[in-house]
Amino acid sequence: TAEAGRDFIRDIVQADLDSKKHAQIVTRFPPEPNGYLHIGHAKSIALNFGIAQEFGGRCHLRFDDTNPTKEEQEYIDSIQADVHWLGYDWGTNLYYASDYFERLYGWAETLIEAGHAYVDDQSQEEIRVSRGTLTEPGKNSPFRERSVAENLELFRRMKVGEFPNGARVLRAKIDMAAGNINLRDPVLYRILHATHPRTGDAWSIYPSYDYAHGQSDAIEGITHSICTLEFEDHRPLYEWLLDKLPVPSKPHQYEFARLNLTYTLLSKRVLTELVRQGHVNGWDDPRMPTIAGLKRRGVPPAAIREFVKRIGVAKANSVVDVGMLEFCIREELNKTSLRRMAVLRPLKVVIENYPEGESEQLDAINHPDDPSAGSRKITFGRELWIEQDDFMETPAKKFFRLSPGKEVRLRYAYFIKCTEVVKNDAGEIVELRCSYDPATRGGNAPDGRKVKATMHWLSAADAVPAEVRVYNPLFVNPSPDAASFAADLNPQSLEVLADARVEPAVLRAGPGEVMQFERQGYFVPDPETTPDKPVFNRTIGLRDSFAK
Ligand code: ATP
Ligand code: MG
Ligand code: MG
Repeated sequence: TAEAGRDFIRDIVQADLDSKKHAQIVTRFPPEPNGYLHIGHAKSIALNFGIAQEFGGRCHLRFDDTNPTKEEQEYIDSIQADVHWLGYDWGTNLYYASDYFERLYGWAETLIEAGHAYVDDQSQEEIRVSRGTLTEPGKNSPFRERSVAENLELFRRMKVGEFPNGARVLRAKIDMAAGNINLRDPVLYRILHATHPRTGDAWSIYPSYDYAHGQSDAIEGITHSICTLEFEDHRPLYEWLLDKLPVPSKPHQYEFARLNLTYTLLSKRVLTELVRQGHVNGWDDPRMPTIAGLKRRGVPPAAIREFVKRIGVAKANSVVDVGMLEFCIREELNKTSLRRMAVLRPLKVVIENYPEGESEQLDAINHPDDPSAGSRKITFGRELWIEQDDFMETPAKKFFRLSPGKEVRLRYAYFIKCTEVVKNDAGEIVELRCSYDPATRGGNAPDGRKVKATMHWLSAADAVPAEVRVYNPLFVNPSPDAASFAADLNPQSLEVLADARVEPAVLRAGPGEVMQFERQGYFVPDPETTPDKPVFNRTIGLRDSFAK
């Protein structure tokens, strides 16, 4: 049994169990397979599957595949993979609205026979205009009073494909003056000569969302049909149809606020255009708010589940700061990631008083808060790499890292001091000559002298060249405009650091294993990694870095 009172939907579920209205709770997650899932869907997935888990019920995965012009098998496959990856399982409860096409069709004839539906020959545009507005009632269609026999005959001819796309529709006969525009004779079926991923060319007419959804819920015995707030005004239609049809159960629709995130657009139309127009490199581009993108970026599913839990479920729309998601990602990765060293923009350092041709192994711990993670050996030698921006020839105020004459600590190794700056003909710094203090092995001076900075570094002898991809927000605007999103795109959303170096232990990471590169952030191997060229994605930067 669940804790009561966590959100209004769980309260309703608990009350329905207490009152014995339902013996078992049945929910569903009903994606349309017309794109990849995004983090907004994760909220709905966590809610529907979470309720089923917590209250001993079940949650169906149902593909709402009623629009063959936009739906593809690739999306069906990716949706299943993403729900599993998020940590949820539908067991044997995998359904497709298209499996109900025959039954839905039969019920449409039932509506016609009862005088509750008619075939309308008006064009889409005529129907839109005659529907009226919020302040103006709609106008009855000239075809509204067709006889049952004529409606049945026309509907059957629509079904067998006698008419072209758009020639006719089937509409519910409700009330063209209803205050709720959704009740002004909504469209139930439209003609579409299109090949469906599952039913092929069997159908020339397809049910509308409003007609298919509630009836699919009823067929599956869904008790709580949970959807986002835009559908609140559709609920009277949902109920009207359930009331008029001989459905096997009476589900109830509840609405919650969809997830909106700053610097992010969560509309499948926009995400599809980002992919098609090449603004990103596919649905799983790590800059995308898709589940596949977040996964490739290294975001752990536990962080997404924690994020969704923290934002809660409310009845009013709001925008969540993307910083909240980032917080959850850091929290999770800080606990689980092994520490490694990598230099993203390398600058060569030569330790002049270190013997040529020699090297030594030093101990580096794998996780500061988890002794069981153990330690590893790292190589120290005469030639090293440090980060370019850890050196300033003329240090700015409060710059305590390396500069001429200044001493710093190399993490796990020694104190070093810069003795000379080597430049090329163009005046660019190409190398630093330094000295080290052999008495500071491990990072402390026996004479007790202190340094202000500790820096990461690598031994040039065994550092591995790598490409590192650093991601910044896809949009520069905290509330990008879905209608003109291209203008809000961040031209610097991807930075490729083609000449990075990583310590050899980094190559031991398995697919999807995130590591903390000390002082830099969290990084994960990208699937484009090859034996010749390892590639890493930055999942997220560190909020704080030690002693910078
Ligand atoms: P879009 O509006 O971008 O096309 P959609 O809502 O049509 O997305 P569906 O595949 O129909 O996409 O969504 C499946 C389920 O996920 C629906 O129940 C929907 O309400 C829910 N959902 C979609 N977007 C969000 C979101 N941003 N926050 C919470 N739930 C969402
Ligand atoms: Mg939808
Ligand atoms: Mg949609």
